[in-house]
Amino acid sequence: MIPLFIPDIQEQDILAATAVMRSGMLVQGPNVAELEAAFCKLTGARHAVAVSNGTATLHLILHALGIGPGDEVIIPAFSYVATANVVELVGAKPVFVDVQPDTWNIDPAGIEAVIHSNTKAIIPVHEFGLSADLDPIRMICNKHNLFCIEDAACAAGATYNRVPLGKDSYAASFSLHPRKAITSGEGGMILTSDAELAARLRIFRNHGIEMQNGKMEFVEAGFNYRMTDFQAALVLSQTHRLFDQIQQKSKLAEVYAQCLNQEYFQLPSTPAFTSHTWQTFHIIPRQKVNRDMLFSEAKNANIGLSYGAQCIPDVQYYKQKYKLPVQDLYPNAFNAFHQGIALPMYASLTVSQAEFVANTLNTIIQKIYAK
Ligand SMILES: *Cc1c(COP(=O)(O)O)cnc(C)c1O
Repeated sequence: MIPLFIPDIQEQDILAATAVMRSGMLVQGPNVAELEAAFCKLTGARHAVAVSNGTATLHLILHALGIGPGDEVIIPAFSYVATANVVELVGAKPVFVDVQPDTWNIDPAGIEAVIHSNTKAIIPVHEFGLSADLDPIRMICNKHNLFCIEDAACAAGATYNRVPLGKDSYAASFSLHPRKAITSGEGGMILTSDAELAARLRIFRNHGIEMQNGKMEFVEAGFNYRMTDFQAALVLSQTHRLFDQIQQKSKLAEVYAQCLNQEYFQLPSTPAFTSHTWQTFHIIPRQKVNRDMLFSEAKNANIGLSYGAQCIPDVQYYKQKYKLPVQDLYPNAFNAFHQGIALPMYASLTVSQAEFVANTLNTIIQKIYAK
């Protein structure tokens, strides 16, 4: 079976984690601090704050910025549903913008039309590990005085205009879930260029505690969003391999691009301003296809496929709450949700396996179209 994804956990990673378990120092400790330093070193970011998962990162940022009831936050209509859930959970309203049909990232040209007096932030998502077009988005944020909070959950190691994501970010949030490149099990990381925001994030991460003159003061009603130290050790041990992994996956992406029949499949585009991490290799059939049939045929050939992400206003909760004309307002997100296909992609996937996946898909789709 060629599954959609296999996390890259090696013996030395396990040893690093178990050493911490044996130490008895289990909660946030020196390995979390080292992991934060490693992320700063990897990206050039000034401040890093590790938290318990990639959804908590976004929730923590919105909460620390005081975004809440009455506020609106602009997000792409196509993302993992967590991007919208955190906005709901602070009591604000997610306002959707359609994505570009070839990068599946938020279309900057659609943003200004939905900005109102109560808009507080934009959350661009770097979908599947490909940077959104940040310059126009940051320009809009400056012009309208909005926070730019990047959901970089899948994009550790990606660049925008040759700058690593997170380095020049007001706030960028990364996930360390096993479905992402490097993993602590559950885990997340926030990078920020703003010292004051970093300090607030640390307070809200840890029960609202601030050290004042060497004394612990409870200055806010905070969360417990800390990362455990053995989880930090597990992922810290993988950080050295991040760029090798991306290189390996880039090679596989080239194999897919060469072998997939582009008469049948639209391939992901990689604009010149960005480098892809290939967290997901996502394609869309050029003509509408019965995707369930395609998935089940692939499964018969021992290939694990999945859809890529949700058209969020089209999932039950958001559909019932906001009743938006999804297909009219967000045609690209709708199409990607219902027709998109995520292919197996991980560092240990071999070139011949990737060739087999691509060739099998070519055969399957030809058969389906011929029916
Ligand atoms: C994975 C993911 C998240 C959530 O991260 P978790 O660590 O699983 O909570 C949020 N946004 C996007 C775009 C993701 O891909």
